[in-house]
Amino acid sequence: MKLTEKLSQSKKTLFSIEILPPLKGKSIQSIYDGIDPLMEFKPAFVDVTYHREEYVYKKREGGYLEKVSIRKRPGTVGICAAIMNKYNVDAVPHIICGGFTREETENALIDLQFLGVDNVLALRGDSIKTEPNFVPEPGGHAYGLDLVKQIGTMNKGQYMDDEMKDAEPTNFCIGIAGYPEKHFEAPNMFSDMKYLKAKIDAGADYIVTQMFFDNKKFFEFVQLCRDNGITVPIIPGLKILTSKKQLTALPKIFHIDLPQPFYEELEKCKDDKQVKEAGIKWCIEQSKELLKANVPCLHYYTMGTSDTTRRVAKEVF
Ligand code: FAD
Repeated sequence: MKLTEKLSQSKKTLFSIEILPPLKGKSIQSIYDGIDPLMEFKPAFVDVTYHREEYVYKKREGGYLEKVSIRKRPGTVGICAAIMNKYNVDAVPHIICGGFTREETENALIDLQFLGVDNVLALRGDSIKTEPNFVPEPGGHAYGLDLVKQIGTMNKGQYMDDEMKDAEPTNFCIGIAGYPEKHFEAPNMFSDMKYLKAKIDAGADYIVTQMFFDNKKFFEFVQLCRDNGITVPIIPGLKILTSKKQLTALPKIFHIDLPQPFYEELEKCKDDKQVKEAGIKWCIEQSKELLKANVPCLHYYTMGTSDTTRRVAKEVF
């Protein structure tokens, strides 16, 4: 079912989660172990992230170094099919531009349509870890906007081969990313908003936000979207902070701030156990305030572990 239909039919705030594919060599059971304990909260959908290749240098005979491309995690098509089959819940694969030609994207979308996947989250994707900037694949897309346009075109029954006759249109509900604290490459919020609106105009149906720890920033972002004529549902993305390391790692990786009162609480913590408790408490408070504001859905970045999300969900739903 399309998420937008699900959201509009629900009278209350929904619950959803995001998981990442297991490392290659691990079984699908590791995914189920992360989802099983959360099923009692009836997730409206399960997002599955996409992780592109990395480059590593391998020492070869004679001492020379060979640059090798490796992918540590499998793609999303199989995992989404397995989740939908086991739980009868909508799985939402993240589709990225990075590393894909337009034709490969088209083929993946056709597979997803055959499997009954109704929703996709269309993203540009991160740059390769060892590269400073995002580089599009030759024949691929440079921006999320171009990917949204491609899916929108397939939804009209137009594929890359323009000689195709009577092609069945796909019927994807298209999600996109939004950044309450601005995407780090955007020179300012005005320009970020301009491109966000362009993606909506090109056919995107809903927005899921980057994680944030300060609800004020989310509320301001929603208002800014509405002021700019963006009327689609905006789903807040929430992460539970669980370790001291994340105090600096999350701001660095995701370009977000930790609000001062939260930071002061975390500073008092002696170890990761205490940080985890403070993180759960903060996320419960955040969630309850967002719930009061009638957000359409609370989306939790579980990163494959369920214990902390379960404790939050028990208090909130
Ligand atoms: P875009 O919409 O392409 O925007 C990127 C930047 O370019 C922004 O600064 C924007 O303002 C600017 N811009 C956009 N269009 C134009 C244009 N036409 N001309 C000039 N500038 C433009 N990454 C992964 O690799 N895998 C995942 O599974 C994944 N899941 C995510 C889920 C969520 C909810 C979020 C918020 C992010 C996720 N990401 C994921 C990270 C995401 O891929 C990165 O943040 C990436 O840097 C930007 O993606 P985007 O789709 O927002 O990009």
